[in-house]
Amino acid sequence: MKYFIITGTSRGLGEDVARQLIAEDHQIFCIARQQNQKLLEMAQNQANRLINVAFDLNELTEVESMLEGLFAGIDLESAEGFYLINNAGTLDPIKPVGKAESAAVIRNINVNQLAPMLLTSAFVRLTNTARCQRRVVNVSSGAGRKPYEGWSSYCAAKAAIDMFTRCVALESKLEENPIEILAFGPGVMDTAMQAGIRSTNIDDFVQLQKFLDLKRNGKLLTTELVAGVLIKLLFADDFPQGEYIDVYSLMA
Ligand code: NAP
Repeated sequence: MKYFIITGTSRGLGEDVARQLIAEDHQIFCIARQQNQKLLEMAQNQANRLINVAFDLNELTEVESMLEGLFAGIDLESAEGFYLINNAGTLDPIKPVGKAESAAVIRNINVNQLAPMLLTSAFVRLTNTARCQRRVVNVSSGAGRKPYEGWSSYCAAKAAIDMFTRCVALESKLEENPIEILAFGPGVMDTAMQAGIRSTNIDDFVQLQKFLDLKRNGKLLTTELVAGVLIKLLFADDFPQGEYIDVYSLMA
């Protein structure tokens, strides 16, 4: 059995990753605030090996115990692989830093940066004695490499995740049982997150027109396509340890 922990599965990229991973020898834990009934129904023919975990990743003090709970029934010795996909994300607050409310900035950093870090940390600990493949994919963004006006929290959190990924990869060189980890840039996808960008006030986000044009000109990637690329990378023999891999580089 291979085990998958995927965050942000109620819609968008996470939903498609979970859907494409449904298989009889895959146990999938889907973490989001909202339960995904569609995924549950799809998994019904596959021995119900998909579990929706209703959890708010803003609740940082509960992250470790939540993951411990999921691992409680797992036999590490017979497991064939453990995979953590830190995909959940939020762009809000979309506004210049001086207009952003503290609570929204804190939530952004909690969900985009600290929750993936804590999940990775607990995942490494909980799987440490397993002798199978252990991989982490942190869904990042081009916004972690290129600054955008109005997205300061999001850009900062994604940049931090990229550096965190590099550090963990470096540490793993010292480990007897190393973890594998990379950061993945999914490109501009047609999801609720993009719809949220397009509904922003131009005073809060000066590049609004660029994103309206991307949608109008059919330039957004489908989550189905991006999920397929991510899963291929997840199982790749030549896993690019510690690197940031952009979806467009794999589509070329
Ligand atoms: P999306 O459609 O907005 O979905 C976001 C997911 O994250 C939802 O399932 C949501 O579930 C979950 N989430 C948000 N806040 C959460 C919280 N507090 N606790 C638990 N789950 C939470 O986003 P997407 O476009 O699929 O984005 C997926 C990933 O790709 C994100 O990391 C995003 O930063 C990255 N990305 C997206 C784009 C793009 O163009 N869409 C571009 C670059 C990078 P609930 O609301 O049910 O909790």
